[in-house]
Amino acid sequence: MARIISGTETSRTMRAEIAREVAALADEGIVPGLSVVLVGEDPASEVYVRSKTQACEEVGMRGRTLRFPAEVGQDELFGVIDGLNADPDVHGILVQLPIPVHLSYKDVLERIHPDKDVDGFHPLNVGRAFVGDPAGFVPATPAGIMELIRRENIPTHGKHVVIVGRSLIVSKPLASLLMAPGPNATVTLTHKYTTDLSSHTRTADILVVAVGKPGLITADMVKPGAVVFDVGVNRVEDAISTRGRIVGDVDFAGVSGVASAMTPVPGGVGPMTITMLLVNTLEAARRSRAPDLSRGAR
Ligand code: NAP
Repeated sequence: MARIISGTETSRTMRAEIAREVAALADEGIVPGLSVVLVGEDPASEVYVRSKTQACEEVGMRGRTLRFPAEVGQDELFGVIDGLNADPDVHGILVQLPIPVHLSYKDVLERIHPDKDVDGFHPLNVGRAFVGDPAGFVPATPAGIMELIRRENIPTHGKHVVIVGRSLIVSKPLASLLMAPGPNATVTLTHKYTTDLSSHTRTADILVVAVGKPGLITADMVKPGAVVFDVGVNRVEDAISTRGRIVGDVDFAGVSGVASAMTPVPGGVGPMTITMLLVNTLEAARRSRAPDLSRGAR
């Protein structure tokens, strides 16, 4: 049976570490602050936003949610973001995605000052992550997977990593982190148009699945002894729970008989995503001690 890589446990350890560092920073008069902008009333977004602000409070940061109706205008939203960019008590800003289609998510994300863009979605931070510039912020989900790899001592050097999915928030940044000098992995990215997906997944020493399709990865698609990270979050109603339960993209019961280690859903990558958002917010607050907001300004 595969060893369980618990994001919940690692997060607990890390959040205790973060809380100590937040307290030390507070002694210098800086309380890290994260402002979350929530547009509309998407129930899943409500849950994510609540988890993020609660996590902030647990470690002694200021977590604040600014709510707007779905029909808010882009100019009004820009005004709010400009205000947060200028507020010295706000170190991190994130706009919870998805946002309504009448708003340009690209323009909204670019409005956030790169030095407060703790989600790492501003093109400048995307580029910094790609070139390995530590001045940027790496998106929380790939950063969380890297942290699990480090803390669980999972070898990456010379290993083959197959990532299923090619999104900008998970897969592409993770690929660039893993192929960089240091981790030195060989990385294959796959997507909806990949021919014969299992011929790729079966060669993976480390398999990362970030798609959003329950049961996509079955035991026969996994190399014996592989390490599997399941990023997917899917709500399903089945015989186990007719009221709905959360599962990943990987058939946990089957794959746990083949893999050497794997993350569960829930309790794997999800908690690490929130923890790495806290890490980024703490880092943004630390950097605010010597502000250089001219660097990388729009
Ligand atoms: P996304 O932007 O929708 O990307 C999904 C990717 O999967 C796309 O690149 C798509 O390919 C690919 N894909 C779709 N069907 C496929 C198939 N049959 N075979 C291979 N690839 C396929 O999604 P995302 O934002 O990366 O999120 C993916 C999942 O992770 C979702 O369930 C999301 O809820 C979850 N998630 C979890 C966390 C967390 O913290 N746990 C964080 C972020 C996301 P194309 O590009 O060709 O369409």
